[in-house]
Amino acid sequence: MAAEFTLDRELAEWPADRVRAAIAQAGPGDVERALSREDRTPLDLCALLSPHARERLEDLAREAQRLTRWHFGRTIGMYAPIYISNICGADCTYCGYAVRSGNREKRRTLSESELRSECEALAALGYQSVLLLTGEAPSAVNPEQIADAVSVAREYFPSVAVEVYSLDQEHYEKFCRRGLDGVTIYMETYDQETYDRVHLLGQKKDYLYRLNASERAGKAGVRRLSVGALLGLFDWRVDGFWTALHARYLQRVCWQSSISISFPRLRHVPERFHIPALVTDKELVQLILATRLTLPEAGFNLSTRECPEFRDRLIPLGVTMMSAGSSTRPGGYVTYGEETLEQFEIEDPRSPSEVAKVIRNAGYEPVWKDFDYAFDSVPRAEED
Ligand code: SF4
Repeated sequence: MAAEFTLDRELAEWPADRVRAAIAQAGPGDVERALSREDRTPLDLCALLSPHARERLEDLAREAQRLTRWHFGRTIGMYAPIYISNICGADCTYCGYAVRSGNREKRRTLSESELRSECEALAALGYQSVLLLTGEAPSAVNPEQIADAVSVAREYFPSVAVEVYSLDQEHYEKFCRRGLDGVTIYMETYDQETYDRVHLLGQKKDYLYRLNASERAGKAGVRRLSVGALLGLFDWRVDGFWTALHARYLQRVCWQSSISISFPRLRHVPERFHIPALVTDKELVQLILATRLTLPEAGFNLSTRECPEFRDRLIPLGVTMMSAGSSTRPGGYVTYGEETLEQFEIEDPRSPSEVAKVIRNAGYEPVWKDFDYAFDSVPRAEED
């Protein structure tokens, strides 16, 4: 009997040494071949991530722009994050929310009325798509409370996604019945040794449970799945390659969901942490372009972790969703201002209308509503 086709098996076929060797061996001819193909293979992706492809960034950019316009038109979706809690029992050494980061104060979980205030403020700015986030602390925000938060947010926004700790398929099914349409889960790094080293405590230590969370969400009926690696933890070329494999795998096994990729890059970290594999602007551009050429139908999300000038330059190169005017604190929009602990410092402080203007000036249309939602045929109960 054939072995079951799973993500960890697929990744195991491409260990870091094999990926690095394929990248190192790719010559100018391989880059040219990868550029001229319609359907690109994992080996083509290695060529596009190689140092030789770095000399062809303008050609990659042209092709990335053509593919993005073909699949997404000239539109950029707008979304905003809402942190519902900054209490966390995990210890991810790079994160300001980690239980051992030394920040014991300014921890809060929003009450329902506080969450409503935050939703009202973002809805008034025009947002129709939000991402609800928590730390990993089921004692502060359990799955039932996440479901309740989804229900509340759905009263204000047609599109609600969550970025919370990994859960079982039944939990995601419940969220869908309450109106959820998106789940974001970053693997942070696909390299198991690095993963173990930076995740010291909590359920997040369980590599496989996290690795398979997006697939469980897809099987539960979540319509939008977003994956990504936290760039800076490991060799960006290899983690970028594995992220693309993950996205491609999800496109196959969760074919009813749309798959998107984020490219979060570590910039500001707690004092105790040293970024082991800093990624430069040029390297990040190459990664985004190479991934676009390999996965032309995947959405690409860009957060306010990056500075305004760099974000503006990325608009025509493959980005399909952008956050703006973000706060990474619970209650950061109107309830508590800067009184609560933030997860990370944002680099782009511009208002949503300023970012929308820049998008328009670049020849794109900022889209506040996710129109696909209107075609979502899954019937949904208001409550369980
Ligand atoms: S990355 Fe998430 S789980 Fe880890 S410490 Fe930060 S908030 Fe907690």
